[in-house]
Amino acid sequence: MKDFRIGNGYDVHAIAEGLPMFLGGVQIESCIGFVAHSDGDVAIHALCDALLGCLALGDIGKHFPDTSDEWKGVDSKKLLKAVVDMISARGWKVGNADITIALQRPKLAPYIGQMRSTLASVMGVAEDAVSVKATTTEHLGFVGRGEGCEVWATTLIYKD
Ligand code: MG
Repeated sequence: MKDFRIGNGYDVHAIAEGLPMFLGGVQIESCIGFVAHSDGDVAIHALCDALLGCLALGDIGKHFPDTSDEWKGVDSKKLLKAVVDMISARGWKVGNADITIALQRPKLAPYIGQMRSTLASVMGVAEDAVSVKATTTEHLGFVGRGEGCEVWATTLIYKD
């Protein structure tokens, strides 16, 4: 590995009743979901921002504006693929990603494996290069009150 960069990303979406919940490219069975212009996959949005941050390419809002009809209801996996393509076009490869999701409910443990394999496949990396962790906030703050979901992502990219 001759050269490497790191990036971090952060995103929040509000929760509402009766919306679909997508996290890490996986639909979560739940009667609550995320308020968003896209599919609301807050984990992928944080991951995209981390990857963009590695090369100082701005943020997800710059590349996929929520004022554009083009991105209305979009499957966030498409955004992630587009971001990985931007990085590849500049000669970089994704090394690994580490994602922490803060959500009070529902429990995400049953979905972690599927999120890791889905994200790894979209980014074209091995599953052990993608870590997804989930935590509640012990009923503290807006996450704990069930008002929103918060995600942090860290990524490393490299050039051979
Ligand atoms: Mg977002």
